[in-house]
Amino acid sequence: MSKTRAVAQVIRPAGVREGAGVRLHRSFPSDVIDNVDPFLLFDDFSSGNPDDYARGFPWHPHRGIETVTYVLAGVVHHRDSLNNMGRIGPGEVQWMTAGSGIMHEEMPDPRHAPLLGFQLWVNLPARLKWTRPRYQSIAPTAIPAVALDGGGTLRVIAGKAAGARGPVTEISIAPTYLDVELPPDGRISHPAPPEEGVLAYLFQGSAAFDGRDDRAAIVSARGMVTFEEGDRVEVRAGDHGARYLLMAGRRLREPIARHGPFVMNTREEIQEALRDLREGTFIRSRPDGTPDTGQREPRDTS
Ligand code: MN
Repeated sequence: MSKTRAVAQVIRPAGVREGAGVRLHRSFPSDVIDNVDPFLLFDDFSSGNPDDYARGFPWHPHRGIETVTYVLAGVVHHRDSLNNMGRIGPGEVQWMTAGSGIMHEEMPDPRHAPLLGFQLWVNLPARLKWTRPRYQSIAPTAIPAVALDGGGTLRVIAGKAAGARGPVTEISIAPTYLDVELPPDGRISHPAPPEEGVLAYLFQGSAAFDGRDDRAAIVSARGMVTFEEGDRVEVRAGDHGARYLLMAGRRLREPIARHGPFVMNTREEIQEALRDLREGTFIRSRPDGTPDTGQREPRDTS
């Protein structure tokens, strides 16, 4: 039996300050919802004012998760304990697997405005919490952009949709990550299997996300939509069209112990991460195989 997922919640992102004082909009404020398995956090750091983001996210750790940064306008400079450095520019994606531990900095460039971008945190299963850190850097030209029947565009960052396959691969939760633009009254149906957790983040325009034609079902930007059980998501754009991210992945159904930038399975593993940071043993994988001797304090949680 095919069943359209009903909308469970529409979460209005809450303004928070993160990093060295970046103003951003967080969709999983912990007083409303802590996670949607396998997703742990979603931040929208878009702003037209460089003062909101110039201070950036200086050197900080992550362990046990993946962070997915998608930039649509502006530039974010990054460097990390694997000796990677570079920039995430318009249309680019960085899918970073922190695994056993990474230190990095993420610095939006105040010379570029506006900034339009998002960061999603994806959980790792217990068996991969200690995997070697790595990242996939995806150029805009590697992301298929499919013209939809009836207008609009669907960009496939991960997973399969509209006959296209996204460039991000070898991720444990087998994610779907789509950027969808629909014209006024445009419609689309996304397969969303019952074993997957699903989110839709509407950042432009308005849309109904439960297949109803009832105007009362229309949500306006910006909002994070969570869903009831079912096997597909039906979207219909409002009068001015809509643009949203559709994110889905296999649920892990494992215990979650989280503390800032660390997400593990037990409190003991959190204590271990904090102890590793204090003692300078946090980085277990160096590019040349030598231990990390640089003692660095965490500066933020994003
Ligand atoms: Mn980070």
